[in-house]
Amino acid sequence: MFKKIELVKTAYTKGDYPPILNAEIAFAGRSNVGKSSLLNKLFGIKIAKISSNPGKTRSINFYNVDNKGYLVDLPGYGFANVSKSEKKKWADLMEDYFKNRYSLQMVFLLIDHRHEPQKKDIEMIQWLKELEIPFMIVLTKLDKLKKNERVKQLNLIKSHLSKYGDYIYFPVSSKTGEGIGQLKNEIIK
Ligand code: GDP
Repeated sequence: MFKKIELVKTAYTKGDYPPILNAEIAFAGRSNVGKSSLLNKLFGIKIAKISSNPGKTRSINFYNVDNKGYLVDLPGYGFANVSKSEKKKWADLMEDYFKNRYSLQMVFLLIDHRHEPQKKDIEMIQWLKELEIPFMIVLTKLDKLKKNERVKQLNLIKSHLSKYGDYIYFPVSSKTGEGIGQLKNEIIK
């Protein structure tokens, strides 16, 4: 489905982005939500892990997909013990990307399926809405929920987020592959 995927740019500062291609989609979420695992499952790319090292500078990573578009790995948020200046750096970089990268077409926002959306997730939703960036929600680690808990948990998350809008949800498991096909189809679209 995807043939050649290549990391072409690691952006640490505002505006340091590669020339635009036809399409661009980005993945965002709290650290540890399962973003690296999902990108690995979807695109077969190994993402260098930094979640064990919160002090390390975070970047926006651009992957060229078959010369057709970019898959963009946004830096995770919600690290514990992060200094104010680190947080500001993160926010400045993200804001610049969201505001100025007009080729960005869709953000896939990852939320852990087991938990209620957290304050930082809600802030991200409000931010994306404010900036009028289209987004869909990917619920990760589906395999960790028992079959009979899944609908209940999905409805709980939906009811929490319904006050912000109606969204499309993709429950997925990078471990078992459940839901990955549907998400892939959406990405291709
Ligand atoms: P990131 O910080 O968002 O990139 O998260 P990772 O992909 O590194 O995942 C964080 C932890 O969750 C790791 O221990 C993964 O093995 C685990 N994990 C990620 N996705 C899944 C999943 O779909 N199912 C299960 N059971 N564990 C997962």
